[in-house]
Amino acid sequence: MPAVFLGHGNPMNAIEHNAFHASWVRLGKQLPRPKAVLCISAHWEAPGVRVTAARQPETIHDFYGFPDELFAVEYPAPGDPELARRVGALLQGHEVVLDDKRGLDHGAWGVLRPMYPAADVPIVQLSLDTRQPLQVHYDLARKLAPLRDEGVLILGSGNIVHNLQTFRYHDPAAPEWAIAFNEAVKRKFAAGDAAALIDYPGLSEHAKLAVPTVEHYLPLIYVLGVRHESDAFEFLNDVVHSSISMTSICIGEKRAA
Ligand code: ZN
Repeated sequence: MPAVFLGHGNPMNAIEHNAFHASWVRLGKQLPRPKAVLCISAHWEAPGVRVTAARQPETIHDFYGFPDELFAVEYPAPGDPELARRVGALLQGHEVVLDDKRGLDHGAWGVLRPMYPAADVPIVQLSLDTRQPLQVHYDLARKLAPLRDEGVLILGSGNIVHNLQTFRYHDPAAPEWAIAFNEAVKRKFAAGDAAALIDYPGLSEHAKLAVPTVEHYLPLIYVLGVRHESDAFEFLNDVVHSSISMTSICIGEKRAA
């Protein structure tokens, strides 16, 4: 099974019929149909490793100041408590809490609803234990790699460059530092240089501007961690809009388009 990192950007991409939304619809059709999805979203930070274990996770509207239409979205995909337990078993040695209250955040449903509009693919989310250094996230991800052979789609949802302070919606021209950081990440990913991506402040003198807080960058580290050396990869939505990069990466073989 391939694994995917998706730049999700503006929450409105979940419902707006723009190029990003269209690419997610297309991707859902191109990928082999997964038994379930394990989503690592920028929008679930927790003081520990948690896994959603509800049979029917609710749709969380974790944003402010958006149109009612976005708040009205419900995405009734089922959970998969069995997969949640399997994730816990794979991460043996870490304290993993199965959370049967937590629902799906917009980093997850915002991209999964376009990919699987029938809401018939079970979804489990893994939290980001933001107390941990990047190396730990990478090590956790390595342990999750066997899920790919069990028909589980591992989906990281974040943004390689994500600076809301400098973001200008109506001026899509990207600052040089944003492009430079995004390109550095792409180069290191292409080279399979995990160490450089884990030590991302060393990628560019502007890393602090590109990644002011680590939560949108971290989902990429999970897709990096489940990558096999032999995996082909492909960049999708490779654009930097102001100071948010939408660059996405699919590893492994998709079905023919
Ligand atoms: Zn986000």
